[in-house]
Amino acid sequence: MTADFKIGHTRLLINGEWRDASDGATYELINPATEEVLCGIAQGTPDDLAEAAQAARNALTSKTWRSMGGRGRSLARWKLADLIERDADEISHLETINQGKPIFESRKIDMPFIVDLFRYYAGWADKIQGETIPVHPGFLNYTLKEPVGVVGMILPWNFPLILLCWKLGPALAAGCTTVVKPAGYTPLTALKLGALCLEAGFPPGVVNILPGKGSVLGSAMLDSPLIDKIAFTGSTEVGRMVMRGAASTIKRVSLELGGKSPNIVFSDAKLDWAANGACSGIFYNKGEVCAAGSRLFVQKAVHDEFLDVLSGKMARYTPGDPLDDKTRLGPQISSSHRDSIMTLIEKGKSEGATVHSGGKTATVNGKGFYVEPTVLTGVSNDMTVAQEEIFGPVLSVIPFEDEEEAIHWANTNCYGLASGVWTGDPARAHRVAAGLQAGTVWVNTYNMFHAASPFGGFKESGFGRELGREGLENYLETKSVWISTR
Ligand code: NAD
Repeated sequence: MTADFKIGHTRLLINGEWRDASDGATYELINPATEEVLCGIAQGTPDDLAEAAQAARNALTSKTWRSMGGRGRSLARWKLADLIERDADEISHLETINQGKPIFESRKIDMPFIVDLFRYYAGWADKIQGETIPVHPGFLNYTLKEPVGVVGMILPWNFPLILLCWKLGPALAAGCTTVVKPAGYTPLTALKLGALCLEAGFPPGVVNILPGKGSVLGSAMLDSPLIDKIAFTGSTEVGRMVMRGAASTIKRVSLELGGKSPNIVFSDAKLDWAANGACSGIFYNKGEVCAAGSRLFVQKAVHDEFLDVLSGKMARYTPGDPLDDKTRLGPQISSSHRDSIMTLIEKGKSEGATVHSGGKTATVNGKGFYVEPTVLTGVSNDMTVAQEEIFGPVLSVIPFEDEEEAIHWANTNCYGLASGVWTGDPARAHRVAAGLQAGTVWVNTYNMFHAASPFGGFKESGFGRELGREGLENYLETKSVWISTR
């Protein structure tokens, strides 16, 4: 158990000030494990968004921000990383009571990753440079790398803080200013981070944070002529709307969208490892993971044996109090999301899948929006449960004959975010990695991330890469300068 921390920030952060919404509206946050009201949150309006966009615009060209330069931005980011480390217990507690993810994940996985990410991009902030390019005699040509401008960030509720930091880290390193819209369900850690950005020395207006409705604030962001780019993470359905909305002002867009990732187990794999990877691939963050390995392809020769090994691992994922250090499966984000997961499980059954384990809702101490860890067998790749993103702890097991068939079925899906391969044959690992249409391929591991390694989607999983050097390019414009030397 962790100590009980107070919720410090529930209002909008605009131009360095904490404000109520312009119309005074608030909405309630619910703890998904206890079903209790956590607090009221100010709900931003289009007028608030306009003010935040103006504040970010003013900050972009302000002397204070520009004179910090790369080195100043780098130092502020190091300070920010230190402050996150200082308050890591509080931040991870907020994330867990708001999102429902086990405290083990918020504290032991998310926090070190976020701290490392800000330090990684602190290293980039003073190393962003253009190049000199040999052109016609009599001319000097060089490029400048400039911030893309004011960035609107629209975020999902599954990794509220990490995914904000994936955007904020490179955007601030590039010298951009920002207007952030966290998901309606999960604004607490974003607001806390806003407070730490001010404490770290980022000038007012550089980071503005407005919780509120996507349909209202998201559209206002898309329409705003003061915003140059939208960095969006969320569903493919809303991603399409963002792309359409950005067209009116030709905003730059990067989209991190949904997934239905294949996790392929060959008969020559270490089955015990592969079963651990299959479980963490689908039950981590209670399956609310864009890259979840939700389609488990198992070679027929080891199908039944593998299911036995997998079943032996399932007890670890018994639904539990997310504030308990030992819990590895928390509640889903909301009752409506739990119900949509159950609807898809029922759909799977009606299309011929068998519930091998789980398949029901659950509670802990009589409360919470839990779904049992669920394994469906007898699934074929064309069933709804193998094609649609369930975004819950539901694994669809699909048998396959050989390598060619595995690659074919793995690629037969509109998404292309991530994938896993379990094999003892290195040559096969390279062949399959080359054949999979996915932005990430994990071999004999799953869900590995690092601040330096790019992440993003093929196909309808989006475009643009986050993290690493490529993540920085999302937030830069290239200017070509010609000088006559004649
Ligand atoms: P969502 O698409 O419902 O919402 C995402 C954000 O968009 C929220 O902040 C929401 O308020 C906002 N929004 C809603 N309507 C909008 C509109 N009309 N205009 C602008 N913004 C609008 O997604 P979610 O349910 O919060 O998150 C789950 C989804 O996110 C899943 O599909 C998951 O795969 C995806 N996701 C992708 C990645 C990735 O890196 N590829 C990471 C995490 C989550």
